[in-house]
Amino acid sequence: MAKKHMHSQQLADSARAFSVKLMQFLVVPTFVLDPHGRVLIWNRACESLTGLDAKEVVGTKNHWRGFYETPRACLADLIVEGRIHELDALYVTHGAPEIMSTFGVHAENWCHMPRRGIDLYLAIDAGPIYDDNGALLAVVETLRDISVQKHSQTALERLASVDGLTGVLNRRGFDDQLTLEWNRALRAGLPITLLMIDVDNFKSFNDHYGHQLGDECLRTVGRVLGESVLRPNDIVARYGGEEFAFILPGADSAGAAVVASRIRDHMAAAAIAHQPGGIDGQVTVSVGGATLIPLADALPADLIRHADAALYAAKSNGRNRFVSWQNGDHSPSHALS
Ligand code: GH3
Ligand code: MG
Ligand code: MG
Repeated sequence: MAKKHMHSQQLADSARAFSVKLMQFLVVPTFVLDPHGRVLIWNRACESLTGLDAKEVVGTKNHWRGFYETPRACLADLIVEGRIHELDALYVTHGAPEIMSTFGVHAENWCHMPRRGIDLYLAIDAGPIYDDNGALLAVVETLRDISVQKHSQTALERLASVDGLTGVLNRRGFDDQLTLEWNRALRAGLPITLLMIDVDNFKSFNDHYGHQLGDECLRTVGRVLGESVLRPNDIVARYGGEEFAFILPGADSAGAAVVASRIRDHMAAAAIAHQPGGIDGQVTVSVGGATLIPLADALPADLIRHADAALYAAKSNGRNRFVSWQNGDHSPSHALS
């Protein structure tokens, strides 16, 4: 009897040794926590991903040291401790927590790998393992380095937002940024200014100099406009055709006037010749500005509408000037030269 017992014990031991070995040599970086959040297994691939040796972490709760500079929960800890509601606060993106109990949970994060001194974008999956009675046995966390994919995705997104002719943000990028900055201003209770900038009499420029020089002119205008904003959060975009737009987060109408006069100075300095239809023989722009502090029931489209109306006023008041709109009023137009 004792001998038979020995035999099945040996079988169980060798099965366990085999499964630990499987886990150790699995090519996917993996670690396993026990129900108390201590590291049971830290496989070879996890050692090379993190630069942290198994002997430094097995039996401890120090696994965070592989991924973060300061103590914080890893995905597996959230499952062990039932803190799945913290996913939002801790990860760049994550899957639906509702399916966690069946399939585990997926999340992604930028990690500054402390041991390796490099930034990696990790795709992380963690899932619980239960015994037959439904008691938690362990939580398995697997990691994948998807930094290369993330970098190329970011580069593609950036490319898709850039205007091919001028190199400033295109309309799509403008829409994204306006929504982002609008919401930021709404949360902070700060003003946001939009400037719409349209090249004056550009049709006659094209007609006289040809489309190629027209394109060249737009490229110069894009560069000049880019040099007219100084704050790192200011955004320059090509809204369409010969129309550009500035998003100036935090700028009030006085700030908008400063930027508008800088545009005038820089356009004058660029001195692009426009003999047939230019004002004083040069290419000029008209600027319509709108400034408001976003309210919950307003929309970014309101800001565009007001800036458009101000631009229209600048055009009909003689072009080469700045008209601003603020809180329902048109201020007098300012000639730009
Ligand atoms: P206004 O002062 O009222 O703005 O007059 P405008 O002539 O500038 O206005 P209009 O809208 O009549 O003409 C805009 C011109 O801009 C017509 C169009 O051919 C030209 N345009 C738009 N996009 C481009 C472009 O990418 N390259 C070139 N070369 N021209 C463009
Ligand atoms: Mg125009
Ligand atoms: Mg136009």
